[in-house]
Amino acid sequence: MLVTVLGFYGGYPYKGIGTSGYLLQNDGKNLLIDCGSGVLNSLSNYMQPTDLDAVVLSHYHHDHTADVGVLQYNWLAAKKENPLPIYGHTQDFVNFAQLTEPNATKGIAYNDYEPTEIGTLKFEFLRTVHPVPAYAMRITDSKGKVIVYTADTTYFDGLVDFSKDADLLIADTNFPDDVTGRKWHLNTREAGTLAKDANVKRLMISHLPQTVDVETMLSQSQKYAGEIPVVNAFQGLEIEV
Ligand SMILES: [Zn+2]
Ligand SMILES: [Zn+2]
Repeated sequence: MLVTVLGFYGGYPYKGIGTSGYLLQNDGKNLLIDCGSGVLNSLSNYMQPTDLDAVVLSHYHHDHTADVGVLQYNWLAAKKENPLPIYGHTQDFVNFAQLTEPNATKGIAYNDYEPTEIGTLKFEFLRTVHPVPAYAMRITDSKGKVIVYTADTTYFDGLVDFSKDADLLIADTNFPDDVTGRKWHLNTREAGTLAKDANVKRLMISHLPQTVDVETMLSQSQKYAGEIPVVNAFQGLEIEV
């Protein structure tokens, strides 16, 4: 699997860089994981968005879905024979319904009690702890390689088991370690500790803040992750798993 970061900021885009979006390429298929603000623009540097095979959305906050509407217009304009599948949860029927745009895209439901096969990839989902329903993803390819994406979440113990032994953990790391208490994202201590406790092979910190310098976010995460190598998401970062 090849992961390319298309956007990594939490909340809102900043200085030409978008919010959450990751291109996942495997076995000749092109999948988009989350479709935040600026992601469609970024994606078009790598491929025609109309060559996507599927989109998978973690939840319906705008920083993960802002470009779904314009992606639908892109597909409408291209007059493709088959609609683009967009996978989403059904805990919010209003937003799920909007994944379907006639002659462009088709919403497909996933759930957290059975895996969803997309091409040769197996997606397993775990409901996270966030103000709206959101789902972490555990993606396994035909060779047994695993990517876990926490989506947006506060820390909870279930993340450790869900991330166990992953080849790559992409963690919502929106805060430095002095931000504690009630919050809806991980801080660097929680992301680094999660990577260590789950014994993952690599950690990518993402969903990063605009207001804290990335060196601080990275060095703090690395301190808590111990021996686990940590990289910060940046525009165009490619990781082969
Ligand atoms: Zn978010
Ligand atoms: Zn969110």
